Amino acid sequence: MSCIMVLAESRQGNLRDITFEMLAKANELANQMNLKVNVLCLGKNNESMAKNLSAYAYEVFSIDDELLANFNSEIYRKTISKVAQEHKPSLFFIGHTAFGIDLAPSLAHELNLPLITDCIEIIREDSKIVATRQMYSGKLNARVLFKEQSGMMTIRSGTFKPAELKLSGNIVTKPIPEEFKTGHASNFLGYEEVPTTGIDITKADIIVAIGRGIKEQKNMPAVEDFAKTIGGELACTRPVIDAGWMPKDRQVGSSGKTVKPKLYIALGISGAFQHISGMKSAQTIVAVNKDQNAPIFSVAHYGIVGDLLKIVPMLKDKIKEMKAGA
Ligand SMILES: Cc1cc2nc3c(=O)[nH]c(=O)nc-3n(C[C@H](O)[C@H](O)[C@H](O)COP(=O)(O)OP(=O)(O)OC[C@H]3O[C@@H](n4cnc5c(N)ncnc54)[C@H](O)[C@@H]3O)c2cc1C
Repeated sequence: MSCIMVLAESRQGNLRDITFEMLAKANELANQMNLKVNVLCLGKNNESMAKNLSAYAYEVFSIDDELLANFNSEIYRKTISKVAQEHKPSLFFIGHTAFGIDLAPSLAHELNLPLITDCIEIIREDSKIVATRQMYSGKLNARVLFKEQSGMMTIRSGTFKPAELKLSGNIVTKPIPEEFKTGHASNFLGYEEVPTTGIDITKADIIVAIGRGIKEQKNMPAVEDFAKTIGGELACTRPVIDAGWMPKDRQVGSSGKTVKPKLYIALGISGAFQHISGMKSAQTIVAVNKDQNAPIFSVAHYGIVGDLLKIVPMLKDKIKEMKAGA
C-alpha cells in the first residue's frame, strides 16, 4: 500500500479540470499520510499531458496508444487494472463524471476495492479515511468511514479547489498490453461535441439563475440585461432547459453543473434539492421568490419575497445608480 493514485481525465487530448481538483486533494491527504501521489494518464500522444501532470505527482504513468484516444470502458478498465495491480494504491481517485461513473464500479470490483461514489469531502480522522458522499442527488450527505486501509472514490467535479504545485514527477511510459488490443465487445464509433455557448458557468464569479418563475421566454431579456449590469453569467434550472429557452450547458444541479460563484442570484427558483445540490456552496446566495415558504430561502443568505418581474428592474436601476455615484 504505497500511494494515492489519481486517474487523469482527458477529452480530445485535453486534461479536464476534475483531474487537477483530484490531484489537489490527493496531495493534501498524501502529505498527512506520508504517501506519494501517482497519476495515471491514458490517451494517444500523451507527451504534453504527461508533462503537465508531472508537476502534480511523484510518478506519471502514461499509457499511450491509438486505442486509448477515446474512452472505452472495457479497454480502459483492463489497462488501468493492470497498472493498479502493480502499484496497489491505498486510495484511488476517479472523477464522478460520465467517464468515471461508467468505469469505477467494474474497476473497483476487479481490484477488490470498496467504492464510495460522489464524494464531496475526504478527510483523515483518527488515522482513518472518512468520506462525505452525496446521496439521492444531494438530498442527503452520508459520512462513510473506510474500514479497510484502501478504497476507491469517485469525486464530484467542482468540489475541491485545484492547487498550483511544482513537483517534478517521473514520467513512466507504458505500452498497452497486446492481449487487450483485440476481442473487446464494444468499439468507439465517433466523437460528437455537445453544442455549447462557449461560457463555462463553473468559472463565473457572479451567476444570475432563472427558474420557472420567469414564466415566459419574452421575460428573459430583462434578466439578461440585469446580469449584464452586474457582470454576471446567466444560468438556470432544468425546466428552463426543457422549455428550450437556454442551452443545456447553463443548467445548474445534480444533472447539470456544480457552481461555486461568489454571488448566486436565484430568480423564481423553488429550491428543489436537485438544483440546490449544484449551487449550495456559492459564497453568497440571494433568492427572489414570490412564495415566502419556497425551500430556496433555506439556503439563501438574503431573500426577497416578491415578483421577480418587478424586483429585477428595481435592482438593476439601484445598482446603476450606485455605480454612477461611485
Ligand atoms: C433525476 C432528476 C434530475 C434533476 N436535475 C435537475 C438539475 O440538475 N437542475 C435543476 O434545476 N433541476 C433538476 N431537476 C428538476 C427538479 O426536481 C425541479 O423540478 C426543478 O429544479 C424546479 O425548477 P424551478 O425551481 O425552476 O421550478 P419550480 O419548482 O416550478 O419553481 C418555480 C418557483 O418560481 C416561483 N415564482 C413563480 N412566479 C414568480 C414570480 N413572478 N416571481 C418570483 N418567483 C416566482 C414559485 O414560487 C416557485 O417557487 C431534476 C429532477 C430529476 C427527477
